[in-house]
Amino acid sequence: MQHRIVVLGAGYTGAIAAGRLAKRLRREDVAITLVNAEPDFVERVRMHQLATGQDLKPRPFSEMFAGTGVELRLAKVTGVDVDRKTVAVSDANGPGELAYDTLVYALGSGWNDQGVPGAAEHAYELAGRAGALRLRERLARLDAGQTVVVVGGGLTGLEAATEIAEARPDLDVAVVARDGLGDWLSPKGRAHLRKVVGKLGITVHEHAAVTSVEAGRVVTADGTAIPAAVTVWTTGFAVHPIAKATSLEVTGTGQIVVDRTMRSVSHPDVYAVGDAAMAMGPGDKPLRMSCASGTPAAWQAADAIAARLTGGKLPNVPVRYFNQCISLGRKEGLIQYVTADDRAVRAVLTGRVAAVYKELICKGAAWGVANPMLGLPTRRRPVTRERATAGPAVEATA
Ligand SMILES: Cc1cc2nc3c(=O)[nH]c(=O)nc-3n(C[C@H](O)[C@H](O)[C@H](O)COP(=O)(O)OP(=O)(O)OC[C@H]3O[C@@H](n4cnc5c(N)ncnc54)[C@H](O)[C@@H]3O)c2cc1C
Repeated sequence: MQHRIVVLGAGYTGAIAAGRLAKRLRREDVAITLVNAEPDFVERVRMHQLATGQDLKPRPFSEMFAGTGVELRLAKVTGVDVDRKTVAVSDANGPGELAYDTLVYALGSGWNDQGVPGAAEHAYELAGRAGALRLRERLARLDAGQTVVVVGGGLTGLEAATEIAEARPDLDVAVVARDGLGDWLSPKGRAHLRKVVGKLGITVHEHAAVTSVEAGRVVTADGTAIPAAVTVWTTGFAVHPIAKATSLEVTGTGQIVVDRTMRSVSHPDVYAVGDAAMAMGPGDKPLRMSCASGTPAAWQAADAIAARLTGGKLPNVPVRYFNQCISLGRKEGLIQYVTADDRAVRAVLTGRVAAVYKELICKGAAWGVANPMLGLPTRRRPVTRERATAGPAVEATA
């Protein structure tokens, strides 16, 4: 009997985890199934590019996983029963069910309207492909001089505002930030950000919280109305409600609470990675939703599963931050170097070099997903029957 590993979600982290598991375990011992709603890989880190009319390289999973032994199941996950160890799915043939021995939950996240009145009805978002394409279509219909207000001064908001302003210099672009613009950056980083934002003609509303969105405007906490032909909402991400509906231990926002091996603290046969997981990182701070931390977390999860199934030593993949790579349009960028726990240090990289660096990071991330079996020495070990059925026995750390 093969040990059944089901990976839910083929975004950055799920696809990486599935590929790494295939590399670590013998085909005759395990059946790895990767479930995803869509047939191709979505480079979420490029959604602001998609929204501004750039076309992204198609990356079909059928090509990526050909010959890897990973079985692809195109279906929407509609529920998980962690007590029966089954996943409810739905595809063109109707509802179905998948049974697992080990589950890797990597369904990512979507946009987060934070419950602000009018945001869901009137705002656009670019947390995923559907939203980005809807925004793309709307931006294409805007006439010169119309206003686009990006709500949110975080990484996604900055990337979106600068990308839109660069692609459409005829539009009037504004960004509304709850705090000071880029105030988590180093002084050099902040100064560069302000310079680029100024050059692109972006209006900045700082220390302003948007409290409602209406057709044609947003309103801030002090009652100021900012005209907006299009409002782009970028105030963080929210996880899908599937995990919260299970008996898994989750946070108030629905992220699955995992230990440092990315294993659920309540259900040892469930692992969670990426945006869907709440894992503590360096400095005892929760990892933020990002590829930067999600990718090593996916390596850690796959290696931990393989170690537990084969009786090997548990891995200790360092999950830490090195830099924040921010695109500021296609020609400008900002690489803010950070401490292991994501605090800005003095060093930055700016300008065109930074734009190229960021592009290489995006390409590298997609390459890692698209080539799941390359770049990693094979260390396939046999699954021992007791471990496959009885769960973890040896918990020594490598
Ligand atoms: C515009 C933008 C820019 C970003 N820039 C950066 C950056 O520069 N650096 C960085 O580190 N991070 C960045 N991020 C964040 C990063 O994209 C996410 O943190 C990352 O994609 C999370 O990976 P994941 O595997 O958890 O989820 P995802 O990449 O979202 O993958 C989830 C997968 O699950 C599938 N799925 C979801 N629900 C279901 C379902 N019910 N049934 C079946 N399949 C389902 C989805 O189709 C998707 O394939 C950016 C995000 C955005 C939107």
